[in-house]
Amino acid sequence: MRLVILGPPSSGKGTQASMISDRFGIPHLSTGDILREEVSLRTDLGVRAEVFLKEGELVPDDLVVQMMKNRLLRRNRVEGFVLDGFPRTIHQLKALDKITTIDKVLFVEVKDEEVIARAVGRRICQKCGRIYHMRFDPPEVDEICDVCGSRLIQRDDDKEATIKRRLRIYRRQTVPLIKVYEKRGILVVVDGNGTIKETKRNVLRALAWSEGQDR
Ligand code: AMP
Repeated sequence: MRLVILGPPSSGKGTQASMISDRFGIPHLSTGDILREEVSLRTDLGVRAEVFLKEGELVPDDLVVQMMKNRLLRRNRVEGFVLDGFPRTIHQLKALDKITTIDKVLFVEVKDEEVIARAVGRRICQKCGRIYHMRFDPPEVDEICDVCGSRLIQRDDDKEATIKRRLRIYRRQTVPLIKVYEKRGILVVVDGNGTIKETKRNVLRALAWSEGQDR
């Protein structure tokens, strides 16, 4: 199964992609996670990408395409994958078409107000990476990680001004991809406004439904 998961920033697509990955035994490829890892390892790519991540801007297409091409060609021949955060522009979509075919595209739909509330409340442990939410999943002690006792921080790209900019970029650069995949008949829309559990149910239902359609 070769899946793409699309949606606004903070739509929970990473959480759902990782659930799909466990459930169907396919690797979860998240461009955001890969880029953050490159940044923390101070690789050439990471150093070039850092400012874009910090500002909530898209990393230039050529860097992201090259990075994903290497990973996809390795995965392609095996068991499939779930792509999270790629493609994000029409240029990336066309580049992806040249690398592999995609079976399904899940579009996780979430309202802007919900996106903003989710992003500004999110905290991450700077040591172990555990993610919390001040409203939905707070730590026992304010701003301190339950697991390792380190301080929680807010990711730069979760700050309110940055998330609003990311939403504008999403509308301009990524929303046009929805039409393209819809025309190809491989788009499935999922309501992502509810809880993680509700969205999970919607995702699994959508996948079963769309697989049923193939038969
Ligand atoms: P995410 O974790 O998917 O929200 O991505 C975090 C950040 O990584 C984005 O705001 C961009 O700066 C960068 N990024 C992730 N995926 C892409 C992509 N496909 N193209 C360009 N930049 C990306």
